[in-house]
Amino acid sequence: MAQQHRTPIESGAPDGFQYMHPVMRKNFGMWKYHEHPRPGVLLHVAHGGDKIWTVKAGTQRILDVFTLRKLCDIGDKYADGYVRFTIRSNIEYMVADEAQVEPLINALEGEGFVVGGTKNSVAMISHTQGWLHCDIPGTDASGVVKAMMDELIDEFRGNNMPNRVHITTSCCQINCGGQGDIAINVQHTKPPKINHDLVANVCERPSVVARCPVAAIRPAIVNGKPSLEVDEKKCICCGACFPPCPPMQINDAEHSKLAIWVGGNHSNARGKPTFQKLVAAGIPNNPPRWPEATAIVKRILEAYREGARDWERINEWIERIGWPRFFEEVELPFTKYHIDNWRGARASLNASTHIRF
Ligand code: SF4
Ligand code: SF4
Repeated sequence: MAQQHRTPIESGAPDGFQYMHPVMRKNFGMWKYHEHPRPGVLLHVAHGGDKIWTVKAGTQRILDVFTLRKLCDIGDKYADGYVRFTIRSNIEYMVADEAQVEPLINALEGEGFVVGGTKNSVAMISHTQGWLHCDIPGTDASGVVKAMMDELIDEFRGNNMPNRVHITTSCCQINCGGQGDIAINVQHTKPPKINHDLVANVCERPSVVARCPVAAIRPAIVNGKPSLEVDEKKCICCGACFPPCPPMQINDAEHSKLAIWVGGNHSNARGKPTFQKLVAAGIPNNPPRWPEATAIVKRILEAYREGARDWERINEWIERIGWPRFFEEVELPFTKYHIDNWRGARASLNASTHIRF
């Protein structure tokens, strides 16, 4: 008889319990404590006495099928056949027998994967998709991540930082990514260049006008055709008009730069969550190794390691020593462009859904 397939569910995530290691399923919500026996390994102990070891390894996030098969084969052979991916593209294997931990780590490292990323390490840099499947990037975030993680591999493997460091990259200035202890973002530095011949055929002009956060775009007739114009004095070069209107080309090999922001923190464990602040701008977007941006990130990490107290996150360290001292420590110039406390944003930012012509 032909196999009966289930009716596909077109929306929502599947029930995660079916993929959980049986020891985790059994002890869900009943963990007593956890320990960190070595970098890359966590041990959870349940109230009933069950133990489970989690081994974490970094991956390149955008995984080809051969690498995925290799990772799954390792899971089948050494880790009871259970894996899960973290939001920072790490793979985690769960084992209920301590004797399986060492062979699992050896198998992963033997295949070139790096075990680490736990406790006070530099976690895997999270990144957005870049050229792979997005239509608006100004750079390929995955390439920046690869180049930086190659140089930070020992910080991922070790536990040498005062506290955990989350680094993020994003390949445009407006959508996903951002908000890490250190964030590397694209920075456009000139207004969009409009291809007036294409606007009427490609763009829905009211949507484009509405996208601009500073109301710098107006409809216009150019060469007898409906088009758009930009008030360049108002434009903040954010790139938000490019997604709904590709003829408003903003990417540029010379003028699309990188910027580095620090001090973002989602956690409210010891204080309120914090926004990140700009500390370096106009950094060359220089593939394939991005040496200028990497050098600044390494300088910030080094100063943090030297200067912060145990358990201080980057934002807490900077708050304690003050921003002037931070700029001295990391040898970055401080300019008037670094100051933006969003006072006045209510008047200057487009906070309504009204279309302005
Ligand atoms: S950061 Fe921007 S360009 Fe990159 S994937 Fe997200 S929306 Fe697309
Ligand atoms: S959306 Fe951004 S880049 Fe486009 S015109 Fe407005 S401020 Fe300039």
